[in-house]
Amino acid sequence: MARIVMKFGGTSMAGIERIRAVAERIKREHEAGNEVAVIVSAMAGETDRLVQFCREASSLYDPREYDVVVSSGEQVSSGLLAIMLQSMDVPARSWMGWQLPIQTSDAHSSARISGIDKDILGEAIAGGQVAVIPGFQGVSGDGRVATLGRGGSDTSAVAVAAAMKADRCDIYTDVDGVYTTDPRIVPRARKLAKVTYEEMLELASVGAKVLQTRSVGLAMKHGVPLKVLSSFEEGAGTLIVDESAFEEGEMEEQLITGIAHDKNEAKVTLTAVADKPGSVANIFTPLADADINVDMIVQNFARDTGNTDVTFTVPKDDLARALDVLEGAKEAIGYREIASDTNITKISVVGVGMRSHAGVASTMFQTLADRGINILAITTSEIKVSVLIEEDYTELAVRVLHTAYGLDAEDAA
Ligand code: ASP
Ligand code: MG
Repeated sequence: MARIVMKFGGTSMAGIERIRAVAERIKREHEAGNEVAVIVSAMAGETDRLVQFCREASSLYDPREYDVVVSSGEQVSSGLLAIMLQSMDVPARSWMGWQLPIQTSDAHSSARISGIDKDILGEAIAGGQVAVIPGFQGVSGDGRVATLGRGGSDTSAVAVAAAMKADRCDIYTDVDGVYTTDPRIVPRARKLAKVTYEEMLELASVGAKVLQTRSVGLAMKHGVPLKVLSSFEEGAGTLIVDESAFEEGEMEEQLITGIAHDKNEAKVTLTAVADKPGSVANIFTPLADADINVDMIVQNFARDTGNTDVTFTVPKDDLARALDVLEGAKEAIGYREIASDTNITKISVVGVGMRSHAGVASTMFQTLADRGINILAITTSEIKVSVLIEEDYTELAVRVLHTAYGLDAEDAA
């Protein structure tokens, strides 16, 4: 017997027939004698629809009421799944976030889980009942419904798995695992059998859309073994685990594990910033105060003019606010002009193998240079190299890098 958490995404829950297929999978695990808690998303497209209603009602909506509206999609799908399970003679009931409760911070619309009460849930599943829990929602300190930010059901699932000390957390989705890159761009992309938490964290944060980034960080922190599987076909999926789960040498065989792209950043350049102590702080402090995350930063040193250009990226959604903040701080910073560009993409190569190998970055730069692709900014971490390029070259860059790092599958899919 094992204690398992199963999570089903929006496409898996889209319509009664799909919910029936989901219930059948759950029934199998339950009949095998396992304790099962299930986390569900809203039906595909539903959350978008609800968000749109809020925007239409008022552009300055109250985030607490937004949470009331957008959390409803998961309430519907969890109730339907419980009904379906019962109709198959599987004992089941739904538990809303406030009923367990799943406690969150007060940051409505992007709340963080602060605690999960294990007692009710533990009793339910130990008694043989399948507990169906709506993802994405909890209850904030002020006793109101709170949501966790888009894609938050993954985080709900991992948090429940961590709290319940589950043996497994299986994430059922519309892809059959994690690939070396987006198979729509590179048909020769390969499915990975195993990825480390760290790699998955980097891949998710730079545009691989399989899991919410926060959920991977949480799984890593609590050592929850994650598996990404297809809802629609049988298969082994991809295991996301600690490095220690890899055999000796297994990990270093492959230099690069995956290539991701992210079109959600915008580039900002301030020209003729004074080259003196404090000017960079004068740029980034007001942005941080406005809760705007800066990612890549490039600053040239001034050779003889005494001033320098500073280029950096911010999330596209925050660009208008960032420009506003920087215009307000113009005098304090002392720049000449401000320019921005949204037609850019960040391409990242990720792999723990690069810790012990030189030349990963130079292969990337040379491969892009050979295709005439210009690099606008660079950042690196221990297991990642990212470059900023013009958006038009996205597909080409991903394809040539996939080949350059030897990731192409032998037989085209
Ligand atoms: N339904 C929410 C969303 O679409 C949460 C989730 O599915 O993970 O963002
Ligand atoms: Mg999702």
